[in-house]
Amino acid sequence: MPLTATTVEQKKRSEEEKRGMTMPLEGRVAIVTGASRGIGREIALHLAEKGAKVVVNYSSNQGPAEEVASAINNLASSGDGVRAIVCKADVAEPSQVAQLFDTAEHAFGPLHIVVNNAGVTDSKYPTLAQTSDEDWDRIFQVNCKGAFLCSREAAKRVVRGGGGRIINMSSSLVGMPIPGFGAYTASKAAMEMMTRILAQELRGTKITANCVAPGAVATDLFLAGRSKAAVEAVAESSPFERLGKVEDVAPVVAFLASDQGEWVNGQVVRVNGGRV
Ligand code: NAP
Repeated sequence: MPLTATTVEQKKRSEEEKRGMTMPLEGRVAIVTGASRGIGREIALHLAEKGAKVVVNYSSNQGPAEEVASAINNLASSGDGVRAIVCKADVAEPSQVAQLFDTAEHAFGPLHIVVNNAGVTDSKYPTLAQTSDEDWDRIFQVNCKGAFLCSREAAKRVVRGGGGRIINMSSSLVGMPIPGFGAYTASKAAMEMMTRILAQELRGTKITANCVAPGAVATDLFLAGRSKAAVEAVAESSPFERLGKVEDVAPVVAFLASDQGEWVNGQVVRVNGGRV
């Protein structure tokens, strides 16, 4: 049966709808900080699989960051040239953050999605009373000031792309006063409040600001310095009796980054398998 103009139009629309469902981030440009390893790596790959062009940020491990960018550029859907680049920047340094955003815009044009994922922890100190000034400052500089610096750049620049998303990586430890994680948990608590205020202040910009707060996820950050027994104890304390996987977190970030996530704003989305 010959295709009429109407059926061609219907077919085209349903193909576009299907593509919109599988590639909801097509045409979007994202920066993911700390994307060389762990959760950030998976977020970068996942956003790219959903159609975004991605800037893979790292602070010291260039090799793994290059591998993430190559994996994205080798995706079957990468018909339109380079879809990912790497960019070294310490998120705690204002000039390096500005350079990161300049590099992203220069490579891909206006930005839409900024995922502030880079983070460091402090499990080597049993108590706050034993935490050094240097370690307290470094943890706050990377986790909290880093998210502030990148959010400030995002607020100025994402608006040029017509709006978008700021997604800050908190931790489910906020709300759990567990000894040994004082500086880390305090830095994430500050980040959560900063994000909620940002969401109010960004009124009229079409930019949402949210936190994603994972529970224990099996990455370098979580596993470093923990005994096998300590890891198993955390896993067993979850209703699912397992640790989180990076694949549990990335789709939540992708949803918040999509058009469908617009009505989620100023929130902390806990992704922790129900562990309390
Ligand atoms: P990870 O495996 O240790 O990876 C950390 C990433 O951050 C690496 O890519 C690292 O880059 C980057 N990074 C560190 N300092 C940086 C800086 N100053 N500037 C730019 N990048 C920097 O950590 P993860 O477990 O995936 O954690 C990712 C985020 O999730 C963190 O914010 C963490 O607090 C949060 N989180 C993790 C867990 C968990 O259980 N894993 C739970 C809750 C929240 P290099 O490779 O170049 O060093």
